[in-house]
Amino acid sequence: MEIWGNRKWRYLFIGLLTAFCLLAGLFFTDALGWKSRLEANSVLAKASRDLSQYEISAVFDPARKTLACRQKVEYRNRSGQELTRLYFHLYPNAYRSEEKPVFEERDMMRAYPNGFSPGSLDMDTIRINGKEADFTIGGYSEDLLMLILKRSLKPGEALSIEMHYQVWMPNCFGRFGYGDHTYKAANWYPIACVHDKNGWNLDRYYAIGDPFYSDTANYEVAIKAPSDYVLAATGECKKKDGRDGNTVWQFHAPAVRDFAWIASKDFQTASRRVGPATVTSYYYTEETGERALDYAASAMKFYNQSFGKYPYRHFSVVEADFFIGGMEYPNLIMMDHSLYAPGETDSLELVTAHETAHQWWYGLVGNNEVRDAWMDEGLTEYSTVLYYGNRYGANQEKKVYHSTMGEGKYSYLPYYIKSAKVDETIHRPSYEFSDGTLYDLLVYGKGAMMFHDIQRKMGRATFLQTLQEYCRKYQFRNVDKEDMIHTFRQVTGRDWERNFNKWLYDEEHE
Ligand SMILES: [Zn+2]
Repeated sequence: MEIWGNRKWRYLFIGLLTAFCLLAGLFFTDALGWKSRLEANSVLAKASRDLSQYEISAVFDPARKTLACRQKVEYRNRSGQELTRLYFHLYPNAYRSEEKPVFEERDMMRAYPNGFSPGSLDMDTIRINGKEADFTIGGYSEDLLMLILKRSLKPGEALSIEMHYQVWMPNCFGRFGYGDHTYKAANWYPIACVHDKNGWNLDRYYAIGDPFYSDTANYEVAIKAPSDYVLAATGECKKKDGRDGNTVWQFHAPAVRDFAWIASKDFQTASRRVGPATVTSYYYTEETGERALDYAASAMKFYNQSFGKYPYRHFSVVEADFFIGGMEYPNLIMMDHSLYAPGETDSLELVTAHETAHQWWYGLVGNNEVRDAWMDEGLTEYSTVLYYGNRYGANQEKKVYHSTMGEGKYSYLPYYIKSAKVDETIHRPSYEFSDGTLYDLLVYGKGAMMFHDIQRKMGRATFLQTLQEYCRKYQFRNVDKEDMIHTFRQVTGRDWERNFNKWLYDEEHE
């Protein structure tokens, strides 16, 4: 039966509709300046094709400190290999035990000012393609979920996994948990481990560095929260429905490598447009909340011009009960509350500019942050130095580079070294650094020096051109050292491997 009547008329109608849309598109492009917005969306629309899809609905209960969750993952095998099992990180379980903390010992008091408080994820049921499935939970802190598939998953094939679980949030000032003002849901749900050319990456939640590595995927997340809470999240809030004192927030986040959200009763907001994106500062310290917005918007404008256009519609800078400076998530950065003190604005600017640069180096171009942390941290740190040059001129750039970042940071190494010799290798897994200080001095400080050295040798214009190509080619993907060096060679016609290696490895320790 064909309710639509004559086929010829239907084609005519479709033709007229298409013509109208094209004309309307042209008209709006000129009249309302929507062109860049449409362009940005088409990049995302293209990037979101054939990715895995996460649909999560969570009920947030601040009284019990819990999230009751249902999650459906349409997992697509993009590994290029046949898979017989799947793995997911259960990061909340890394917060389970005081004996296996996710912080260095020296930071425990700041992480848990009210005493240790456990967090966890309790898995209830899992269904694969509609059928109840067995699952195994293991790993260092029971932070890995393993699913053995009844039928192997061929490259390009997808399957559906449905999970029911409960998350318990700790009273913790790290990335995950709650404090006096905020509930931070970061690394809070089961996320698929990455299968790359090294096989499955099953690294645990190390105390040093940001121990994360994930694939880009599409997210649809609904969070039910008491209506007096404001939520900042990855993606775009498409809809808010209030009923009986609760509000359901529906977020749509295509082509992102993680989903994080932060809830607070105390948030105020201020927003600014940067190109097609809206930058929003969420804050509860009134004096400086708008300053964070200014720093983030300025940084985004500069990185847009220098590295390539930010393709997402939203970017949020969020003041939080967090003690470690700043932390990057897709479309959202978590900011240490202490940076919002009126006397700390220099640090607030530095951290905001750094975390904003991560939207490119981590957010768009991803890498294994356990094994190759220098790839995002070193480059992000050096991008921040360039931000200062752009905003305040060459003298300020030099000053920041020589006193605070890059050489400035690395120059602390002699004060740090207690023994006669320390291994200065930058390119090694984060767990091979003796502590967070050495990691910081080498991965961030010396890492930024490496990019500065290469930039000086090739000239700034070529350096930025190379980064633009690196971003264009690898955005929404994961890269390794070879991919980066390949791009540098391709753009400049010169091999930079020796330059990279000179900085990345300590020859005396080889
Ligand atoms: Zn960073």
